[in-house]
Amino acid sequence: MTADPSCIFCKIIAGQVPSRKAYEDDELLAFHDIHPWAPVHVLIIPKVHVASLADVQPAHERWLGKMMLLAPKLMKDLGVTNGFRTVINTGADGGQEVYHLHMHVYGGPRPWAKG
Ligand code: 5GP
Ligand code: ZN
Repeated sequence: MTADPSCIFCKIIAGQVPSRKAYEDDELLAFHDIHPWAPVHVLIIPKVHVASLADVQPAHERWLGKMMLLAPKLMKDLGVTNGFRTVINTGADGGQEVYHLHMHVYGGPRPWAKG
């Protein structure tokens, strides 16, 4: 499935739900989390609907790699100079709330609300 009409992040990709975008290309979107846990808190998502990291396939290798490459570039572009944290919550026991694969990237001066 390319998009899931009931998925909030697919709606953000489609522009049906507003977001503060930080980066976009043909395969990825990055936007600021609506409830930030750190001074900078962005979510990097694939434009294709994949529910979680438990569902990735070999065909997803390209954009999975791009997600990892984008995180440090984005932090640099957003002025984060002293390190950052990346988190992918997966499934119920992983604490995942939105079932469209996403990487949290947290940065900025500590203390942070969580983590
Ligand atoms: P999870 O717990 O699934 O790893 O994290 C989901 C994240 O998505 C949460 O940090 C939550 O604040 C964020 N989020 C949920 N709905 C929206 C939304 O409509 N817009 C934005 N920008 N972030 C959202
Ligand atoms: Zn989705």
